[in-house]
Amino acid sequence: MNVGIIGAGFAGLSAAYELTRQGYRVVVYEAAPQAGGLASGFQAPGWSWALERFYHHIFASDRAILELARSIGFEERVFFRSPVTAQWWNGRAYPIDGANPLEGALNVLRFPAVPLFDRLRFGLMVAYLKYGVRDWRPLETVTATEWTRAWMGPRVHEALIEPLLRGKFGPYADEVNMAWLWARFKARTFKLGYFVGGFQAFADALVEAVQAQGGEVHLGTPVTGVRPLSGGTGGWEVRLPDGAEVFDSVITTVPPSVMGRLVPELPGSYLERLLSLKSLGAVVLVVALKHRLTDGLYWVNLDKRQFPMLALVEHTNYIEPEHYGGDHLVYLGDYLPPDHPYFERSTEDLFAVYESALRHFNPDYSRDWVRDVWAFRARYAQPVVPVGYSRHIPPLRTPLPGLYFASMSQVYPWDRGTNFAVEIGQRVAQMVIRDTIGLLDGMSAVS
Ligand SMILES: Cc1cc2nc3c(=O)[nH]c(=O)nc-3n(C[C@H](O)[C@H](O)[C@H](O)COP(=O)(O)OP(=O)(O)OC[C@H]3O[C@@H](n4cnc5c(N)ncnc54)[C@H](O)[C@@H]3O)c2cc1C
Repeated sequence: MNVGIIGAGFAGLSAAYELTRQGYRVVVYEAAPQAGGLASGFQAPGWSWALERFYHHIFASDRAILELARSIGFEERVFFRSPVTAQWWNGRAYPIDGANPLEGALNVLRFPAVPLFDRLRFGLMVAYLKYGVRDWRPLETVTATEWTRAWMGPRVHEALIEPLLRGKFGPYADEVNMAWLWARFKARTFKLGYFVGGFQAFADALVEAVQAQGGEVHLGTPVTGVRPLSGGTGGWEVRLPDGAEVFDSVITTVPPSVMGRLVPELPGSYLERLLSLKSLGAVVLVVALKHRLTDGLYWVNLDKRQFPMLALVEHTNYIEPEHYGGDHLVYLGDYLPPDHPYFERSTEDLFAVYESALRHFNPDYSRDWVRDVWAFRARYAQPVVPVGYSRHIPPLRTPLPGLYFASMSQVYPWDRGTNFAVEIGQRVAQMVIRDTIGLLDGMSAVS
């Protein structure tokens, strides 16, 4: 049995690792020149570690990715720290996390944007969501806005929840269901994890592990189409710029809109489900500075009513600047509808929009602190999950036998993340294995 996999992000690579481990012949095609997908990195001259194009860390509860790291012998290159996460309010940053639950709770109690009673209520509700809710399903029948206004209070909603929802989901903020917010509280930990060498080093190690088990990974190879073989014999043709390859099964891990274009034969009902999935894109600037910008802050949530972006992340307050030739690295990140004009703007134009924010964090900042700026854009970056979303998710097994689809839009109720990409990659691989065993059983029964 041979399986073609489209996309060498964490979903595609985990599926490839699982299948090659079980003896399948696997070929992975990746359009980009490197593996890792949205978590891939880049390396400027003088850096010894790669930096993610989009800010990344994992959580101590990310079981699937940690288990995978162990399985390929990468566990010693995973480490955890508790950098400072803060909320910007009234001209300064207030820590809202801590090194442990007690410190986190005390920091929330010190946050002055809402009265003490509301802070206590917020703390209790977060504890309830994290430790008290066993079944998330009732929470997907109500929006996060309705639930938090009712149970955390309108002031907490306005100061903490609404900026998050508006920043992440823009025009869809009031549609997002409460199960999404529950999953964020549930799956996140105070300790944040990272890989020696960055996520790119882990993705590269995964490619090597797939190859060591006999799999092939072709980078810089965009797939132009996926077509069922004619004659009803089963099997799939994967079309490439310079030819085609035939597989018994194909797993695609591309964005839903790309899936629709790659496989025009998808039945209308499945295609409709794919095309009805809403999502936002991400525009992120990485700014390399000669000096530290903030006073030790790693992550600062911003209110887009005051700032041109959702978050400022000073990566080198989490990972030492020595790994980046002494550069102090700051991400300025935003989520925008995929047709937003910023996706077409040059790096200089984007920096002109976002730069003003830097002065808020350090009045000494000036343009001559800037060593370099890079802009990264992804039109499919954050799935939108409205009320009743679980009924609309396209199944991993498409209606066409031997064709599977696994994307960020299907990891629900969990928010997208590399851990859940690994988990869905493993799940779709198991499905292929079960289906091919069933097929072989059927064939041997006939013969
Ligand atoms: C701004 C931002 C911040 C994030 N922060 C975090 C974080 O802190 N922690 C975390 O765990 N996760 C984070 N994530 C989410 C995480 O990056 C994703 O959940 C995960 O990488 C998705 O993996 P995937 O394999 O499903 O998809 P992708 O990584 O998108 O992989 C799909 C691959 O398919 C390839 N492809 C597309 N079309 C074709 C084609 N025609 N032919 C061949 N190849 C093709 C793409 O090039 C890509 O490599 C973040 C994402 C963003 C955008």
